[in-house]
Amino acid sequence: MARTGLVQDERFQLHQTGSGHPERPARLQAIESALASHGLADACLPIDATPVELARVRAVHDESYLKRLGEACAQGRPFIDVPDSAIGPESFEIARLATGGVLNAVDAVMAGRCDNAFCAIRPPGHHAERHMSLGFCLFANVAIAAQHLLDHYELARILVVDWDVHHGNGTQHIFEEDPRVLFISLHGHPGVVYPGTGYESERGRGPGEGFTINLPMLPPSSDAEWQRAFDDSVLPAADGFKPEFVLISAGFDAHERDPLAPLELTTDVFGWMTDRLVESAARHAKGRLVSVLEGGYDLDALADCAELHLERLLAS
Ligand SMILES: [Zn+2]
Repeated sequence: MARTGLVQDERFQLHQTGSGHPERPARLQAIESALASHGLADACLPIDATPVELARVRAVHDESYLKRLGEACAQGRPFIDVPDSAIGPESFEIARLATGGVLNAVDAVMAGRCDNAFCAIRPPGHHAERHMSLGFCLFANVAIAAQHLLDHYELARILVVDWDVHHGNGTQHIFEEDPRVLFISLHGHPGVVYPGTGYESERGRGPGEGFTINLPMLPPSSDAEWQRAFDDSVLPAADGFKPEFVLISAGFDAHERDPLAPLELTTDVFGWMTDRLVESAARHAKGRLVSVLEGGYDLDALADCAELHLERLLAS
């Protein structure tokens, strides 16, 4: 059994997105009750969420964006940059807590206090660009974690696997010129699914060319197709790269019950993908792996997937 860390915090529910918004506080309530009722949360090492140092956020985001976001929250504006990215008065501070929780999980794994960790946080992060919010995302949590591993721990090879149904445009753009971060994204085909980026031809730029791998999946897409993409592309690329740390952008919105995308994965495949990345981390990265919640908007499917994901992390 692995020692698995878990970031959960009731304050993440204070990021208010307004009625009818799919990225809502009830998402984390559903996960929390599923993890509590099956004893999984108790089996984990609790990891606190503390406000991230703004210097860590500035390592990825422009100062002007942080200023605009802070002011928009203080002024009570309903969204930042795009109507999708709803905010409330507390959102800046809650985004700091969410990112801080992820960095605390990374620190706990690096210190050997746990082998791996799952961060049940919101707001999500993988659409956030250096200079702006996009698609419900305020701070680029996983990108900030990768940058922290490069800057603070001086690691040289970080693998980010993003299996959210939407392309992780923010993470891709932040690291597209950096060969130290291998970004692999499986997502609904950009011709059909938001945000319309993530074609196979997007492979990174300059010194980062070849260190971005996009695997667009045409709907309806099945478990078997995602497993084939893992076997044929994700795992061989990871073996070639030999990551020192594995980060997962764990969105569960490619699930067949999810209302935001037309893909048809079952719960089981999220457990299968977890096992494969845990094995990859064990082969190359001393098992060091941190998984961070992104999307997932059907409450029952989200809770089931998160539960299986954490169960597989614990069982590794
Ligand atoms: Zn998504």
